Amino acid sequence: MTKNSLSALGTSVPRPSAEPAATMQAAVFTAARTVRIEKVPMPQPGPGQVRVRLQGCGVCASNLGPWLGGPWQHYPLAPGAPGHEGWGVIDALGENVREHAIGQRVAVLSQNAYAQYDIAPAAAALPLPPELDDHPFAGEPLGCAMNIFQRSRIAPGQDVAVIGIGFLGALLTRLCVQQGARVIAVSRRDFALETARQSGAHLRLCSEDPSVAARIMEWTGGRGCERVIEAVGMQWALDLAAEITAVRGRLVIAGYHQDGPRQVNMQQWNWRGIDVINAHERDADIYLQGIAAAIRAVCEGRIDPAPLYTHRFSLPELADAFHTLEKRPEGFLKAWITP
Ligand SMILES: [Zn+2]
Repeated sequence: MTKNSLSALGTSVPRPSAEPAATMQAAVFTAARTVRIEKVPMPQPGPGQVRVRLQGCGVCASNLGPWLGGPWQHYPLAPGAPGHEGWGVIDALGENVREHAIGQRVAVLSQNAYAQYDIAPAAAALPLPPELDDHPFAGEPLGCAMNIFQRSRIAPGQDVAVIGIGFLGALLTRLCVQQGARVIAVSRRDFALETARQSGAHLRLCSEDPSVAARIMEWTGGRGCERVIEAVGMQWALDLAAEITAVRGRLVIAGYHQDGPRQVNMQQWNWRGIDVINAHERDADIYLQGIAAAIRAVCEGRIDPAPLYTHRFSLPELADAFHTLEKRPEGFLKAWITP
């Protein structure tokens, strides 16, 4: 990925007066829970890159780390960082870019998309077909769902539990149901359980019900689930997952566990001989394959992310979007930003 090392964060930036249009607005994270909208130089695509005039960018739960801060976090971030779920229209091509044309609408895997424009390698800009013209399309989380689903290896007839029904959990519920699995959705929020029902979940349970594990064991005839997808990113979800994974089952960790060490019940993992998959993807090529698969899945109607984008904010309201993400109020699944 191209890092846009704009050092022009202060007020002493020389502005070329001959080209007043060569600036854009971008969000700059300057401290924990502090973001400013600044006028910064327009990024220019280098060889093999494209520039995208962004139409939107999803707000990712993994951005909570940079938002909340911590001893490892250094500010300011680059303008537009850490927005990585953008989509928009290509408005400039770098040298040697043959596979794209100006005006093409794309989902883009980039790093600085909390802004009006961002640049990315041409290969990281995936064309969106015209039937998706009116839809937001946050490529990275949709690709993530497709890749997690693939690594879960769901077969028809399997009992599958999805723990945590957010944007990702709702998409995974739908994909597993379509694969012919019997799906149990677990969430603490009524709204999310209703979303799971609409996604086809066969059984919906509140995670705060102390008998949730017992009810899942009963529903599966005492065997537990052949597949458990943990999509929360917290200790309690790992604990529950360990309790309900069947012997030789597969526990797929889709949650984001990046706020410190976790404990796992190794005695239980070991006794049941389960496979544990860490399904977060780091390989950019695999990410792009996932996004391409998501574009096909949306076009074919296999997934419908539209109702899952529940909260929309403008770029100057980015801080509000993060406050909302922190609180996850009733009705919240995913926020997105319009530049
Ligand atoms: Zn993301």
